[in-house]
Amino acid sequence: MAHILTFCAANGAEIPRHPLELLAAARALSAQWGGGQVHTLCLGPSAGSYGEELIHRGADEVLTVECPSVEGEVALAAVESAVQHLSPPVVLLPHDDLGGAYVGPSLAYRLGAGIATDCVGFDVRGEEVRWLRPVYGGKAMAYLRVRGPVQLATMRSRAFDPLPADPTRRGEVREFPMDWERVRPQIRIVERLEEKREEELPLDRAEIIVSGGRGMGSTEGFAVLRELAQVLGAAVGGSRPAADLGWVPHSHLVGQTGKIVAPNLYIAVGISGAAQHITGAGSSRTIVAINKDPDAPIFKLAHIGVVEEWEKVIPALIEACKELRSSSPG
Ligand SMILES: Cc1cc2nc3c(=O)[nH]c(=O)nc-3n(C[C@H](O)[C@H](O)[C@H](O)COP(=O)(O)OP(=O)(O)OC[C@H]3O[C@@H](n4cnc5c(N)ncnc54)[C@H](O)[C@@H]3O)c2cc1C
Repeated sequence: MAHILTFCAANGAEIPRHPLELLAAARALSAQWGGGQVHTLCLGPSAGSYGEELIHRGADEVLTVECPSVEGEVALAAVESAVQHLSPPVVLLPHDDLGGAYVGPSLAYRLGAGIATDCVGFDVRGEEVRWLRPVYGGKAMAYLRVRGPVQLATMRSRAFDPLPADPTRRGEVREFPMDWERVRPQIRIVERLEEKREEELPLDRAEIIVSGGRGMGSTEGFAVLRELAQVLGAAVGGSRPAADLGWVPHSHLVGQTGKIVAPNLYIAVGISGAAQHITGAGSSRTIVAINKDPDAPIFKLAHIGVVEEWEKVIPALIEACKELRSSSPG
């Protein structure tokens, strides 16, 4: 029986989806691994107010740390203290800019522990956990074993669905005392620059992503894609050339050097399906590809493929969606 520590950074008004996914992953792991307790370390300006919901979503105990904002070194210090306090054999972190790029690797170094990054699942064999992750740009899957008394794993977003809230679940919520005197930040935030086009739905919050590639041809082509996204309530993504040509912000680039996404529906338009792009979109639940080349590699991955010029498909799709909307009640 082994305890599991998960991490929740809550900077905004509500708990983001990813920490809830980590809780679902922790519960699944606990069930396979002898039923140990699931502890969640929750950081944020009003961390204490999230405790109850985290219990309802699967935590047995929530340790709260109130801090003005969840930055890298603050998060690292808090997770390290919690690990020293609880000695959990497994720590689950989100595979994002905070957990995957900073806290996970830094903590592994500090603890002399192993880390499996960008995991999408696991398998328990006896006492051993094997971490499942995509390799070779998503072309193959590998199981990793992490040696040592503590195993760190960063989990890819949307690898697990959050558990439905169960208001009958009971657990303990308590403040976790931090010795901030010991935290000596090496990084100072000098200025925050708001990204332009903030009106666009961020990729990581979207259930549907409409993504365009070089085949869209121009900014005007992307405007048509944005219209489709608007009708569907989708976010707009793009391939590397689309981002480099300025048709879509770099923050909306999907792939190896961009965001890794896994929406319910990914519509790839004028995207050939290079391995570096597929790395970012291959875990989507349903992939629809629209491409004029029947031999485009994207069709090997797509669940639904349309071999046609987008100029003929997308406007018709927009009209059909609008019609459906106007004819559906409510
Ligand atoms: C180290 C490294 C990292 C990289 N990281 C990324 C990454 O993170 N994300 C990423 O996307 N790429 C990345 N790339 C680039 C990647 O290798 C591909 O070059 C890129 O994904 C191709 O983008 P594309 O599919 O938009 O363009 P193309 O490969 O040029 O494909 C355009 C497609 O549009 C189709 N098309 C053209 N006109 C139409 C039309 N009218 N209607 C319908 N279809 C049409 C064509 O048939 C073609 O299949 C990386 C490359 C390297 C070397």
